[in-house]
Amino acid sequence: MRLLLLNPPSYSDFDGGAGSRYQATREVTSFWYPTWLCFPAGMVEDSLVLDAPAEGLSVMATVERAKGFELIVVYTSTPSLKYDLKTCEQIKRQNPKALIGMVGPHPSVLPEPTLLASEAIDFVVRREFDYAVRDLAQGVPMERIEGLSFKRDGQVYHNPDRPPVEDLDSLPFVTRIYKRDLDIQRYQIPYLLRPYVSIYSGRGCPSRCIYCLWPQTFTGHRYRARSAGNVAEEVREAAAAFPEAREFFFDDDTFTADPARAEEIATLIKPLGLTWSCTARVTTPKQTLKVMHEAGLRLVVTGFETGNPEILRNIKKGATLEQAHSFARACKELGIKIHGAFILGLPEESRSSIEDSIKFACRIDPDTIQVSLATPYPGTEFYKMAQEKGYFTDSPLVSENGWQLCAVNYPELSNVEIFQAVERFYKRFYYRPRFMLRAIKKMLLDREERRRMLREGKQFKNFLLKRKEVLRGKAQAC
Ligand code: SF4
Repeated sequence: MRLLLLNPPSYSDFDGGAGSRYQATREVTSFWYPTWLCFPAGMVEDSLVLDAPAEGLSVMATVERAKGFELIVVYTSTPSLKYDLKTCEQIKRQNPKALIGMVGPHPSVLPEPTLLASEAIDFVVRREFDYAVRDLAQGVPMERIEGLSFKRDGQVYHNPDRPPVEDLDSLPFVTRIYKRDLDIQRYQIPYLLRPYVSIYSGRGCPSRCIYCLWPQTFTGHRYRARSAGNVAEEVREAAAAFPEAREFFFDDDTFTADPARAEEIATLIKPLGLTWSCTARVTTPKQTLKVMHEAGLRLVVTGFETGNPEILRNIKKGATLEQAHSFARACKELGIKIHGAFILGLPEESRSSIEDSIKFACRIDPDTIQVSLATPYPGTEFYKMAQEKGYFTDSPLVSENGWQLCAVNYPELSNVEIFQAVERFYKRFYYRPRFMLRAIKKMLLDREERRRMLREGKQFKNFLLKRKEVLRGKAQAC
């Protein structure tokens, strides 16, 4: 069957596709690669990955591009599901014989409700879908495909689970599909050099953070890793295929989950002389950071989440504030830049814990930060906790235009206050004299950096304005 792997269009600039860990429209336009879709694409000749949000395609343009495909696999998310179902219905109307299925964490956790949500959906694949999609494309009967839930004659059937992929080296190189189907100039993340190329060197994360979507719903708590040689081979090949790439990014759940292996990869790619970045936990040893930095590591993306020790325990982060502090110090000493991720609205957030987080962020002083709202996605421990303890409000996860909303509140703190605190956090961090001086210096020394910062500064201002509109709508609704 001719296979289309689709990242569907939804809210304007919504980044919630097959490579995005939390799904919302961002402060500054960003698009992750639809990496998950590229694995099965690499196993099926004649397939196509279509990334509608990155290409700026409308629903109608997407439906048009879906013509002629017999098997259509759509990556969906909890906040975009409603929208994605409509796209599937339009595709089905135009092409009634096409088999349409959904993949991603949401259908993995809620296969039956997803299947029953629309007549247009024929199947869903639970958890990792690489081989199930390949089998479907090769015409294997649905009832024989592990991990598949499907509809037949109005009945829903759930096949047994498929074990997670163990031999990750046997998967195709996603970067070959980037080359075949995608335009790497369309992929941008504000803290990464543009254009960048993203690679997963492993899947899963041994940590148990209660809010984290992928390990709890999709990739699991065991870190399954590709061999260092296999990763280095892909990097070498991709560096030749994309000479314009300014940076490689290892976008594993946690690239440094196994420090010795991270060092091994670094040592193997060092002779290539590339600039690269990765995700890293605060527990990463300084020695590992040093080896990686000497091999071209420019920046780490690290989840600090909060500056309050009790909340850190509540969310089972498995790390302490002291570790976070020494990690940040080690990165600074070595000259590694940090993009620090923080979350507001985690269980039992209060006014004073928000203040703790803002002060902590200013103290450890990452180069850039991202402040997200805690989102209880179905299938996570946070979701269960929110249900049991009555944290949920009646707010949806995103606004009508895809902006992240706060769906939880606590005895001391309303969801509106948590939402407002995001802006306060950003302003207190970025409007510090120390940060401003650093930014001015960068702008004076580097013309390209100046252009980027001015563009992103404008987008960021716009973001703050749009959030105010969201808040006004919300306040009226309340
Ligand atoms: S360490 Fe990072 S990837 Fe792992 S569970 Fe926690 S938040 Fe998720």
